[in-house]
Amino acid sequence: MRAALSQVEVVRPRGLDHALDLLSEPADRRPTPLAGGTDLFVYLNAGDESRGRFLDLSPLRGLRGIRVVGGTVTIGALATFREIREHAVIRRRLPALSAAAAEVGGWQIQNRATLAGNIANASPAGDSLPVLLALDAVVRVASKRGVRDLPIHRVFTGYRKLAFDPDELIVSIAIPFPSAGTVTFFRKVGTRRAQSISKVVFCGSIAFGRGRGRSGGTPHHVQLAYGSMAAVPLRAEAAEGVLLEGPPSAERARAARLALAEDLTPIDDVRSDRDYRMDVAGNVLDQFLRNASPGYTRS
Ligand SMILES: Cc1cc2nc3c(=O)[nH]c(=O)nc-3n(C[C@H](O)[C@H](O)[C@H](O)COP(=O)(O)OP(=O)(O)OC[C@H]3O[C@@H](n4cnc5c(N)ncnc54)[C@H](O)[C@@H]3O)c2cc1C
Repeated sequence: MRAALSQVEVVRPRGLDHALDLLSEPADRRPTPLAGGTDLFVYLNAGDESRGRFLDLSPLRGLRGIRVVGGTVTIGALATFREIREHAVIRRRLPALSAAAAEVGGWQIQNRATLAGNIANASPAGDSLPVLLALDAVVRVASKRGVRDLPIHRVFTGYRKLAFDPDELIVSIAIPFPSAGTVTFFRKVGTRRAQSISKVVFCGSIAFGRGRGRSGGTPHHVQLAYGSMAAVPLRAEAAEGVLLEGPPSAERARAARLALAEDLTPIDDVRSDRDYRMDVAGNVLDQFLRNASPGYTRS
């Protein structure tokens, strides 16, 4: 049954310390953080949200904005996908992230939805999550007990399960800029361009030895990350291992594609079946490799 909004209690914190005090209350009183509401309101409307007390994060000015310091961009927990997609430095230095931000829902959703909400919602289909995995993002969380940084690969511990404690609030997400010459690539495959949940979502990053450009040499860095292909968004480490073994070749690209079977465990569901998803996962990997180096297409 739909939740009656008149029965929902929303608490407005005076600042971060007050917010963390509220989150440290006993479980039956602890409010649920509310950012853009683009997931939470869907759950309330569908009657899937039993929690009736929410913590409005909007007064927390310190959680807003995007800052670039040195070689890292730090995205506040309240930064929206619109802010991310339009940020000039992110477009230039993290094009895969701005590409993903531009494919989350439509404009209305991007105007409200936050990167932190995408992480905390913990859907295996969250479009930003493979990008964060391929780019080694670090999530900063705070509670009354202090602040800690969690590398993104440690954040998703099971289907819709997070490594955070319920009293911890995401305050920011830090992403280091890839080194010069790194090629990154984002691809979402869904039923239509906007407002569709991914059947397969992928982000890859690859870098070859200094001076070798895209023409060849053994890559010294390969990260391949997928969403909607397992219970959690994850890196395809077996396929990465194959690509790190030697210079690009059509044979190596084929072997990497085969290795995806060790990494990915997609399910049949209403959006797609397992075989289709595995084919698409291989196709987007091929597309990335062709884009990264002509060597991957030579026989
Ligand atoms: C029409 C529509 C289309 C959509 N399309 C896409 C899409 O294409 N791709 C995609 O990935 N998603 C999509 N979504 C889902 C949603 O927009 C995203 O997951 C979004 O990033 C959620 O962010 P939010 O700020 O709205 O989160 P909210 O709904 O406010 O919160 C989501 C979850 O995160 C928690 N949370 C929020 N902020 C914090 C914080 N700082 N610390 C700890 N926990 C926090 C909340 O408690 C809640 O559990 C769509 C949703 C709708 C309604």
